[in-house]
Amino acid sequence: MKITLLGTGTPAPSLRRQSSGYLFDLGGDVIVMDHGPGAHNRLLEAGYKATDVTHLFLTHYHYDHIMDYPRLVLTRWDHGADSVPPLRVFGPSPLRELTDRLIGEHGAFAWDIAARVKSPASLAVYQARGGGTERPRPAPDLREVSTGDAVEGCGWTVTVGPARHVQPHLACQAYRLATDGTSVVYSGDNGGVYEPFIEFASGCDVLIHMNHFLSGTELTADYRRMTGSHLDVAETARRAGARMLVLTHLLPQLDQPGVKERMVAEMAAIYDGPIVVGEDLMTVPLAPAERRPAD
Ligand SMILES: [Zn+2]
Repeated sequence: MKITLLGTGTPAPSLRRQSSGYLFDLGGDVIVMDHGPGAHNRLLEAGYKATDVTHLFLTHYHYDHIMDYPRLVLTRWDHGADSVPPLRVFGPSPLRELTDRLIGEHGAFAWDIAARVKSPASLAVYQARGGGTERPRPAPDLREVSTGDAVEGCGWTVTVGPARHVQPHLACQAYRLATDGTSVVYSGDNGGVYEPFIEFASGCDVLIHMNHFLSGTELTADYRRMTGSHLDVAETARRAGARMLVLTHLLPQLDQPGVKERMVAEMAAIYDGPIVVGEDLMTVPLAPAERRPAD
């Protein structure tokens, strides 16, 4: 398994950090989790195309996690012609309604889709890409999932777990990907020290967790409960027994010189495993780096 961080930012405007996106290359299947604005550009920069992605898992429907979702679906449909199977998409309810409002008969992209399906010029492009005489509408294979569900792939399983964020306004969940002896948990957006999540992440090899801000600078106690901050994330990783912690969903304030170093030092006093501060396009090491004094 190869893990690439596509977007390690937040809704805050940033050229350094795009919004949420994670790619798991499993040899045959290519899984993407979340696809916020800019994540698709990073996917291209990482050497992948929309047609390479086989499965998409969405944690919740904040725009910084889904704005590139229609881009992925439409690009895959447009460039895949008849040669790729429909993208398999998993997420909490209302995945079907949300997708319908984007690409359904009355969705935001209905006019675009009608033109590409009916215009002779567009049909010529479609046929040049290997399509037949009739062009079907985009039809991703959708499945709404919630805590306790499992999705089986070729040599891997994704289970769905709890995350505490902005319920009941949005359903929010986490995922655990297990394959050939390695398990990776992605928190989605999860805040505070949340017991059900700790249980879900127990014993994972890699924990990719939202680390939005510095604990102690929260606006309100509620804000801290629903949004990951550094001391709570360290405590979560320690209690879950995660073998490695990858920090993501980082506000620009955390990139100021000195702040990141102080943050990691404070976290290391709580959690004694390796702490990786995520960056866009970083490949996550699946084992702690060797110390090689000659390098
Ligand atoms: Zn969110």
